[in-house]
Order: sequence, then C-alpha cells, then structure tokens
Amino acid sequence: MSMKDRIEAVEARIAAACARAGRDRGEVEVIAVTKYVSLETTGEAIREGLRHLGENRWQDAAPKLQTYGEAAEWHFIGHLQTNKVKDVIGKFRYIHSLDRLSLAKELEKKAGQLGLTVPCFIQVNVSGEESKYGLAPDKLLEFAGELRAFEHLRIVGLMTMAPYEAEPEATRPVFRGLRELRDRLNREGVLGYEAPHLSMGMSNDFEVAIEEGATWVRLGSSLVGRE
Ligand SMILES: *Cc1c(COP(=O)(O)O)cnc(C)c1O
Repeated sequence: MSMKDRIEAVEARIAAACARAGRDRGEVEVIAVTKYVSLETTGEAIREGLRHLGENRWQDAAPKLQTYGEAAEWHFIGHLQTNKVKDVIGKFRYIHSLDRLSLAKELEKKAGQLGLTVPCFIQVNVSGEESKYGLAPDKLLEFAGELRAFEHLRIVGLMTMAPYEAEPEATRPVFRGLRELRDRLNREGVLGYEAPHLSMGMSNDFEVAIEEGATWVRLGSSLVGRE
C-alpha cells in the first residue's frame, strides 16, 4: 500500500468514527508518528500533506528535526528523561509525556531561559499497567494543582496509551476514563484555565478513542507504515 492510499484509508476511518459519535471531523487532529520510518519516508509524509509529526526518542528524532524541523509541527510523545529536556525544548512544539514534577521543573526552567511557553499534555496511566509510564489517575488533580504556578508551561490536555488489545473495543474504558479525568480537572478549575485536549488512540484503537472524545490521535504503522 502506498502512503497516499494509507492516508486515504485512515481518513475514511476517522470520518466514520466521527460520524458514529456525532462529532465534527474538524475536532480530531492527526499526529503522524514517524518513529518506525526513515528520513526519506518522513519527507514523503510531509509532501503528502501531514503537518503534525511525532517521535518518541530524541536520538531517532534528531536527524529528522535537522532536516524537517521547520516543515512540520513536532510532537514529543515518548518518555522524556530530564537530562534530554535541553535537547527537545524549542524544537518540539508539544510535549505529550509530562508525568512528574521533576520533569515539569526542568521544562519550566529551560522554557523560561528561552522565553517560551511549552504546550504540554499530562500523561496518565489510566490502565494501571506496570509497563506504562504516566501518573496514577488519583494523583492527577494534585499534580495539576502544582503545575498552576509554572508560567512557561501550558497544560493543553491529557494523554494516555491503552494496552494493546486484539479486540480494540476492550480499550474503551481506558479512553473513557481519560475523558472523565479531563472533565473533572476542568470542572474543578485546578489549573485556573481550560485544558480541552485528549491525546489518545493509536493504530490499533484510534476509532474507539475518537468515539470517546480524542482530539489528537497518534498514528504510526497504519498511516506512515513501518520499515
Ligand atoms: C509508537 C507510538 C504511537 C504510534 O504507534 P502505532 O501503533 O504504530 O500507531 C503512538 N503513541 C506513542 C506514545 C507511541 O510511542
């Protein structure tokens, strides 16, 4: 399948999921995750019109950002080590994996030095799987309250990863759980501003995520392929 065909197929599935949920197609943004593909294929994705690209490791992302840093909006979607903040700050527009105070402090410090405001998603481990990063759901409100004082971070929403399920429908409680957490965060006014977004849904489960309110889906293998 060519990339053009994959993009069309994914687009049709997104549109159908939006229709099932009574949502506007415009409410859902796509991040093309290029972590499994080469520099050339990343260039092809940009030429095919994909504007938001995601990577989960700085080492793999660096050459792509060097070549295509200005041609796309970059999203850091992987676990972020505190000592890598200096590398990614200012290069990735969004951080999807804010999950601890030490990381927030380092991001705040480096963003302040550069005079930037960094849009971040708080990553929550809704499923509770031990192998997954992210804050425990019952720690979210307290953590968000602490972030309120961080002037150079803007919390735009929450992010989660569902476990891989042979039957994607089984992921629904995880996505619903993240939506409920976002609603509670906003209802209680913990941040002092709205955090509207939900970064959830990958190749295996994005339709369920959209039905449950995803505003950003992160698609690798189904969209740009795997090499
Ligand atoms: C790899 C990755 C994705 C995309 O994975 P696919 O299943 O290939 O769509 C999405 N989100 C995160 C955090 C990832 O690490």
